[in-house]
Amino acid sequence: MADNTNVKKEKKKMGLTTRIFIGLLSGLALGIILNLFVPHGYVRDVIFVDGIFYVIGNGFIRLMKMLVVPLVFCSLVCGAASIGDTKALGKVGGKTIVFYLFTTAFAVTVAITVASFIRPGIGLDMSSIQAADSISAESTSAVDTILNIIPENPIQSLAEGTMLQIILFAMLVGVLLAQMGERASLISNLFNQTNDLMMEMTNLIMTLAPFGVFCMIARTFSNLGFDAFIPLLKYMGSVVIGLAIQCFLVYMILLILFTRLNPIRFLKKFFPVMAFAFSTSTSNATIPVNIETLEEKIGVSRKISSFTIPLGATINMDGTSIMQGVAVVFASQAYGIHLGLGGYLTVIATATLASIGTAGIPSVGLVTLSMVFTAVGLPVEGIMLIMGVDRILDMLRTAVNITGDAVCTTIVAFQNKDFDINVFNADN
Ligand code: ASP
Repeated sequence: MADNTNVKKEKKKMGLTTRIFIGLLSGLALGIILNLFVPHGYVRDVIFVDGIFYVIGNGFIRLMKMLVVPLVFCSLVCGAASIGDTKALGKVGGKTIVFYLFTTAFAVTVAITVASFIRPGIGLDMSSIQAADSISAESTSAVDTILNIIPENPIQSLAEGTMLQIILFAMLVGVLLAQMGERASLISNLFNQTNDLMMEMTNLIMTLAPFGVFCMIARTFSNLGFDAFIPLLKYMGSVVIGLAIQCFLVYMILLILFTRLNPIRFLKKFFPVMAFAFSTSTSNATIPVNIETLEEKIGVSRKISSFTIPLGATINMDGTSIMQGVAVVFASQAYGIHLGLGGYLTVIATATLASIGTAGIPSVGLVTLSMVFTAVGLPVEGIMLIMGVDRILDMLRTAVNITGDAVCTTIVAFQNKDFDINVFNADN
């Protein structure tokens, strides 16, 4: 029965992917036709560009924005509560979490660096089609950026959507809930169930994504014509390069440094798990096959992986944070908003924490991306442009997300002597 439901859900997801692609392509075609063949005037500008496209596109954006605070707050509380549980696992838990956070922060840094070289948003003038009341980034010093993480009034932070403050408060609530255990079981259940509710709402709103994407892309291309193509390709290229560096360089160097295992052998044996994550775009669904492969082909004891893999699928999303780092650079260039050192530090901090708040299911990285944008004062509208090309990137980044979990697990198991080298060396 449960399997049946999963299969149905998967079919629905595939349908959505296709529909988003159709929305993207038809929006693109219509936008370019309007740009090239329909002269400026009432029909093009009032009815289409600033009428239908604007209303539907922005309606969808508002729905996305509506999700952010409750979704991020609840999933962070639940994520942090699962970190709190790890106390029981002592050293293993601590090491795993440090590793997860470090690799994610490093991933965002890689992404920002790659995107700063490729400069995907240069040449795309989004400011011309931006709403008049757009926000611009205020430059705050690094010290203030850190101080600003502490909320003076958490309720105000929630109401105003001040993400870093929300994150800190949510983490405290989650960790303490885990420590209080039974005494706070009612509140824990409430958060878990609200979290489920928000996931359902996300799924529901995502069914409207094809229309939102269609209208936003059509609006963008009718204003910009072919000018938007190259930046979008550069954006995708930057994400792919960032993912490749993280997966094939950073992880493999860490594997060699900490375990001296052969990275090629590791990748060969692990490849089916990556393919599974790629085709489903969900870290959560990959948990069983990840644990199984680590045990039977790599030699990692289940004692470690049964804890670290589900934890990683919940809080460790390096691939997602690479997309987010590149997206921030892309949007800041397209909108002509300069982010100083304080801005980039905020991006690294928020994207790392957003990775804890990103659920391991398709497209959630886009929702938490709006929190990173908000943290540095970038217009959330910028997400619509990249949303059209996000499905393929979601597949790729999910594969990287779960590889990060597996590499960390292998290192921790190796150091804990819960690793069977004979299994790793066997040709199975
Ligand atoms: N699809 C990703 C995962 O499951 C999350 C995301 O980046 O949207 O790992």
